[in-house]
Amino acid sequence: MNFLEQAKSCTECGLCLEACPVYQVTGEALFSPIERLKIAIDLFEGKEISEQMIESINNCLACMRCESICPEEIELTEIVFQARSELSKKGLGPSEKQKRIIEGILTMGNGVGGDPEKRLEWLPEEFPRRESDTLFYIGCLGSYQEKDAAASSYLVLKRLGFDFMLLEDEGCCGSILYENGRIDLAEELFHRNIEKFNSLGIKRIVVLCPVCLKCFKYCYPKVLGSTGISVQHIVGVIYDLLGQNPALLNKVNRTLTYHDPCPLARKAGITEEPRRILNWCGAELKEMEEGREDALCCGAGGGVRVTYRDLSLEIASRLLNMAKTESVVSACPFCVFHLNYASRKRELAKNVVYFTNIVWDSLK
Ligand code: SF4
Ligand code: SF4
Repeated sequence: MNFLEQAKSCTECGLCLEACPVYQVTGEALFSPIERLKIAIDLFEGKEISEQMIESINNCLACMRCESICPEEIELTEIVFQARSELSKKGLGPSEKQKRIIEGILTMGNGVGGDPEKRLEWLPEEFPRRESDTLFYIGCLGSYQEKDAAASSYLVLKRLGFDFMLLEDEGCCGSILYENGRIDLAEELFHRNIEKFNSLGIKRIVVLCPVCLKCFKYCYPKVLGSTGISVQHIVGVIYDLLGQNPALLNKVNRTLTYHDPCPLARKAGITEEPRRILNWCGAELKEMEEGREDALCCGAGGGVRVTYRDLSLEIASRLLNMAKTESVVSACPFCVFHLNYASRKRELAKNVVYFTNIVWDSLK
């Protein structure tokens, strides 16, 4: 079924309404998954749409909560991305803020305004000039904003004897382009990245960020066909390495809440591995009401943090208020970044860290 047919197959059963964080927070029917599908149909059929309809397409978090329960298996997030692409072709998108970020990706190789000269500042030692067919891909957030996540992950992989290489001139995976209306530019970037990886003999990519995971593992093949490169999130790699010998870890008593990042839990189905790793580190975990595949989005995804900051803060606050502990752990640097920001802004007294910070603490 093509995207138009998929959008038209909605039976309006309403199951997705309670799942959608944007609809829950705003109470606006226009901002529900059902209405987004109707707007997408209008766009695909070339009809006129209003400013508010554009907002509805743009304020979707791409969190996949709706599609994970949709009985018709409608790919809602993909339909939203295609609708954003239609908006862009009509000159109605992306938003001005998104355009600046896209410009940064094209000129500086990252979507967070980072200086490429400082991309490796997180690295705790000299750049390791080694070749491997496994690339450890840090991503924009890890390289520039959540440097602790990058450094602790690097140290954990090294300590566990994992063979990998880094790129000195790593760029952006392109997810922001793909998700925010510039699938045309994403396609070009995907091509360039794959050519680079192939020229270096890379057969496997290990990523720090679940957004990069979703992009490399699912969007690249969708656009380019099979890439011949396997993609894994670091949580799975560490789980496999430690599973052979969890006694390597010193148990440090602490009580934590684990937050499941949307692409990791709902797209890749990885929810148990991070919890077991944290248990091996001695942590006692308190579960949130909505966790694992049902986890609430941090509020930052799908470009919402950039264009609708208040909405993204409201959703992040709901999530943080669900956590029963002061310490929250996530396996996504973007969630860590945004949730700490929300905690500061809303004075919620939560401290959010990337999961390898805990692992490194137990390995030292
Ligand atoms: S769950 Fe699926 S079929 Fe039901 S209203 Fe939502 S999109 Fe339509
Ligand atoms: S992806 Fe998330 S924010 Fe977007 S319509 Fe579905 S549930 Fe709502």
